[in-house]
Amino acid sequence: MPDDRTSPADSHPDRRGLLLVLSGPSGVGKTTIARRLLESIPRAEFSVSATTRPRTPAERDGVDYHFLSDADFARRVDRSEFLEHAEYAGFRYGTLRDQVENALAAGRTILLDIDVQGARQVRDARPDALLIFILPPGEAELLDRLRARRREDEAAIQRRFAQAQREIAVAKEPRLYDALVVNDDLDQTVEEILGLVTARAGRGP
Ligand code: ADP
Ligand code: 5GP
Repeated sequence: MPDDRTSPADSHPDRRGLLLVLSGPSGVGKTTIARRLLESIPRAEFSVSATTRPRTPAERDGVDYHFLSDADFARRVDRSEFLEHAEYAGFRYGTLRDQVENALAAGRTILLDIDVQGARQVRDARPDALLIFILPPGEAELLDRLRARRREDEAAIQRRFAQAQREIAVAKEPRLYDALVVNDDLDQTVEEILGLVTARAGRGP
C-alpha cells in the first residue's frame, strides 16, 4: 500500500479537524504519549513548535522543534506568526499558526504539546479545542522519569520538578482543561485519550 498521507483524498475540506492539546509537567510522558497517539489517529500530525531553547543531541531541527534565535523568534512574534507563545524555564516557545490552520482546514487532527500558559491562550482563541493535562502517578515517579530522560543535570531536573508542581496546581483550575489524565500505565493512558478524542470528534479516532 502506498503511503497516502499527502494525497488529496486524504483531506476532508467538508469538516474542520480537531485541535488537540496535550500539556503536563516535563517528564510526565507527553512525547511518548504523543508518538502513540500519532500512530493511532488517522491523519493526525504533530505541531512542530518554535523554540529558543538549544537543541539536544537526540532532537532534529524541523521535526521535534524549529530551533530559532532570540531575534528570529521576536520577529515572528511581531508578525503574529504564533497562535500562542510563552516563556518556559528561561526560553521562548510558540505554536506556528500556519501549520495549525492548514491542518484544521484539511480536516486533520493537529496535536500540540504545549505548557499551561499556551493552553490558556488556545482555550481563549479556540473554544472547540480539546485540552488534556497529563498528571504523573506521583512525585517520586515524576522525578524518576525526569532522570530517565538523561537530558539535564540534577540542578535542571530539580528546577523542572519545582515548575511541575506549580503547573499541576494551575492545571486543576476549573474550565482550563477538558480532562486530567494520570499517566500510570502507558497503554491505558493512550486508550483513555483516544476515548476522549472519539467522544469529542463524534467519530472513530
Ligand atoms: P515529556 O515529553 O513529558 O517530558 P517523555 O515522553 O520524554 O516525557 O517521558 C519521560 C520518561 O518517562 C521517558 O523515559 C519515558 O519512556 C518514560 N515514561 C513515559 N510514560 C511512562 C509510563 N506510563 N510509565 C513509565 N515510564 C513512562
Ligand atoms: P521541553 O523543553 O521539555 O521540550 O519543553 C518545555 C515545556 O515547553 C513543555 O511543558 C512543553 O509542553 C512546552 N512547550 C513546547 N512547545 C511549546 C509551544 O509551542 N508553546 C508553549 N506555550 N509551550 C510549549
